[in-house]
Amino acid sequence: MKNPFHVMIIPTLGCPGQCKYCWSSDENSPRMTLDTIDDIVRWLKPLDEQRVTFTFHGGEPLLAGAEFYRQALQKIAEGLPHLSPEFAMQTNLWLMTDELAEILAKYHVPLGSSIDGPKELTDYQRGEGYYERCLEGYKIAVNHGLLVRFICTFTNSSVKKKEAIVNFFKEQGWVMKLHPALPSLKGDNPNAWTLAPEEYGDLLVYLLDEAVTHADDIEIMNINDLCRCVFTRSGSVCTYADCMGTTFAIGPDGEIYPCYRFIGMPEWVMGHVRDAPSIESLMNSHAGKRMLAYKDFVDTACKDCSHITYCRGGCPYNAIAPTGGTLIGVDPHCIAYKRIFDEITTRMNDEMNAAPTMSRVSRVKRQQKPGVMGLIKKIVEE
Ligand code: SF4
Ligand code: SF4
Repeated sequence: MKNPFHVMIIPTLGCPGQCKYCWSSDENSPRMTLDTIDDIVRWLKPLDEQRVTFTFHGGEPLLAGAEFYRQALQKIAEGLPHLSPEFAMQTNLWLMTDELAEILAKYHVPLGSSIDGPKELTDYQRGEGYYERCLEGYKIAVNHGLLVRFICTFTNSSVKKKEAIVNFFKEQGWVMKLHPALPSLKGDNPNAWTLAPEEYGDLLVYLLDEAVTHADDIEIMNINDLCRCVFTRSGSVCTYADCMGTTFAIGPDGEIYPCYRFIGMPEWVMGHVRDAPSIESLMNSHAGKRMLAYKDFVDTACKDCSHITYCRGGCPYNAIAPTGGTLIGVDPHCIAYKRIFDEITTRMNDEMNAAPTMSRVSRVKRQQKPGVMGLIKKIVEE
């Protein structure tokens, strides 16, 4: 996590795209007004001095338009100087214009976008024409000096082409951020595209091999994060940390939720920014209590797992949103997390415990798989 305290702003759940596995868009969604931004500023004013990241997410956040961002970014930056606001945005880039890019560049807003691999594969999963429109926006953003990184969603279909996808990212010279397709809580067939936890685990090990073997050709953010977790024994992204109480998402009408993933689910509303609720009262709401209950649940359910200090039971949304808040287990991706954390730990220990007097040839023979310490050294240096 860039900063421990994270506020996600969702100007709308509307989106012009038609990605097949999307679970968050809603064409009837309202648009956030600047009054809500004023409320957000007023709500956060009493926070103690600290660095806070504000991420604009959706739906498609660029639907809010240039005037919204010109004023919203200024209001937050000037209204909350004690929070040293840092901004980010997740967008499909279709609606990027020179005017928008100029405004975002003024506030150094890094952009996350989404491309799932080569054009044909991306358009198959995200709809005809997605790739070209995304690339058009990408060029505008880059021309204005904006940093753009791509999330690559792996589905149960695209995972079969993982080699081609990784090669594509290498050829483009793009940093990859992996996202496993999640079950949709809105459609009739929730698991149509879902990546099964076992497949996700296999994929992470494959990507670890790629990242350490071709460290000069490809950077995979998730692999860096996972290595960092094991090496420092603390979580560095929200999935591998307790996000409750430090992450909040604001919906288009100003409702406060535990995270953008819960937006549009009335049972997960914690409060409203117009009431400027304290963090304590948000965590005392029904939704807040259910998030905290998950934290306690993890302390028991994962107590015998050697990765508990940095995994923390994975993502609460994955664990409790599909069950309506009932605690029946940890994040179903546990299988994948265990697999990759075990893999990194074993390789790291093997390398660190290799006798220093052993010849290089013997060390290479003993080391059946590519080592991870080189990658960790690179991450630390960077
Ligand atoms: S609910 Fe999941 S995605 Fe949301 S902040 Fe927490 S860990 Fe991250
Ligand atoms: S790997 Fe599984 S058991 Fe271990 S802390 Fe993570 S979710 Fe819990």
